[in-house]
Amino acid sequence: MFSHTTRSSHLNRLQSEPFDLLVIGGGITGAGIALDAASRGLKTALVEKHDFAFGTSSRSTKLIHGGLRYLKQLEFGLVREVGSERAVVHQLAPHLVLPEKMLLPLYEKRGFGSILTSFGLKLYDWLAGVKPEDQRKMLTRKQTLKSEPLLQPSDIKGGAIYAEYRTDDARLTIEIIKTAFRNGAVPVNYCTVTGFTYADQKITGATVKDEYGDSSFAIRAKTIVNAAGPWVDELREADNSKKGKRLHLTKGVHIVVPREKLPVKQAIYFDVGDGRMIFAIPRDRTTYVGTTDTTYDGSKEQVVASKPDVEYLVDAINKTFQGNALSISDIESSWAGLRPLIHEEGKSASELSRKDEIFESATGLISIAGGKLTGYRKMAERVVDLVIGKYFEDRKLKRCYTASIPITNPGFSSQSEVESFKRKFPEVGPVINYLVHTYGRAAEQIIANSSNKDLVLAELEYCLDNEMVLSASDFFIRRTGSLFFNIGRMKSSIEPVLTVLKSQLSWTEDKVLAERQRLKDSIKLSGEFL
Ligand code: FAD
Repeated sequence: MFSHTTRSSHLNRLQSEPFDLLVIGGGITGAGIALDAASRGLKTALVEKHDFAFGTSSRSTKLIHGGLRYLKQLEFGLVREVGSERAVVHQLAPHLVLPEKMLLPLYEKRGFGSILTSFGLKLYDWLAGVKPEDQRKMLTRKQTLKSEPLLQPSDIKGGAIYAEYRTDDARLTIEIIKTAFRNGAVPVNYCTVTGFTYADQKITGATVKDEYGDSSFAIRAKTIVNAAGPWVDELREADNSKKGKRLHLTKGVHIVVPREKLPVKQAIYFDVGDGRMIFAIPRDRTTYVGTTDTTYDGSKEQVVASKPDVEYLVDAINKTFQGNALSISDIESSWAGLRPLIHEEGKSASELSRKDEIFESATGLISIAGGKLTGYRKMAERVVDLVIGKYFEDRKLKRCYTASIPITNPGFSSQSEVESFKRKFPEVGPVINYLVHTYGRAAEQIIANSSNKDLVLAELEYCLDNEMVLSASDFFIRRTGSLFFNIGRMKSSIEPVLTVLKSQLSWTEDKVLAERQRLKDSIKLSGEFL
């Protein structure tokens, strides 16, 4: 079981057994590597210093996308790889990675012309091998305004519709972590790597602090992969191997408004007029908008949207859409994430490549940075190929086959199966959409369990038993996304959730007070902009 009740046995294994591979970081990159390595037969551990997906992997635009704008930077290899991965990841978790048609309005005075856009999107479809029925369609001005009547019409000259996918980044990460666990990996959250152990100047393991139980111990591992996202350079420093290339962190902010404040009919990717492009994406009862892209050197533990960040996004919305102007006070929630990109001299934040890179130190530490949520599987394959090629060539290990390991169990095999599953529960009403797209087939168990308790508590019980929830924030932010997309539901269920957590996790009254305060701070930070 992947539950708080089994955590101490996972910790015991970390301390007592030697591992082939230790992965540092429980974001999408580390999760993908742990799954790939464990499924090929490597004995794999993963440690995450906060909760799984605490870092960038819960703060993205939540798209499984090919990165249209990288065509402008001539990154054809990147677009081909992540573009083709979209359909693969959709197939692995059809309830969680959903097709989303994107509208790209074209303007007289900003952005690209129709001919260039038509060619660019054709190339995008071709590089990614998009099925003919999903390939881009160019629209006239009339068709564009019909697709999205909310667009400010004056400057529109036409548009295009093209195919992408949307997801929930934190849930995708936790599902991959759970799948890695089912395949034999030992992933543990709230465990920080504080240093490394060496023999003959080669890494032999890591020292770790259990942040939940407050103890320290060592893990023995033949190889270590540093997949710490924005923290990658800190671990390279701890290994004394931060030489040559370094990270360049850029901050990206998203804001969430109630759907009625920005009632777009579909996802839109629009040009702001300053060389940047922004997404507006409807999701359940909200629309979210992002992102910014600015160089960042503040605290990595608490990244928040500032007033200039949200003013920029609100201005972009008001310039692009008609109707009542949006104001900062309409914002319900927000999040801010850091892109762990590789520094390139003289390039601005948005010009930096999104390609991943692998660094190897003389001590044997393998670090991976850059990349996209969408490309996690291919990044993992490259890292594990390298690990096996260098250290385990003598073993009979499988080749990468994560393209055929569904990331939920039991999972769905197609979108239509997801839709027919939803129809099994007419009595549940519209919330079935949220439940199925969040928990997959486990929605059935949650619904059955909610017959004698509140639905939120039935969800909590499932997450406690199956998803290693150790705090109220794990539940409200990363397992359910309530802080961002259903803040009213979160506020009204804080007390019952804390009561259950107190009893299930044997918390003291002080711990409950601290958790309550943390939730209040999170709500404040996501809705107050300085
Ligand atoms: P992280 O998710 O940050 O994970 C690293 C983890 O390591 C953290 O959880 C951290 O707590 C842990 N850690 C750090 N130090 C230690 C330590 N000492 N011990 C143990 N654990 C440690 N990509 C897409 O494909 N689609 C998108 O729509 C998209 N939108 C984006 C929008 C924004 C604003 C941003 C910032 C990025 C976006 N990306 C997108 C990129 C994508 O989100 C990232 O590439 C990806 O999430 C990075 O994952 P990661 O696992 O490398 O890093």
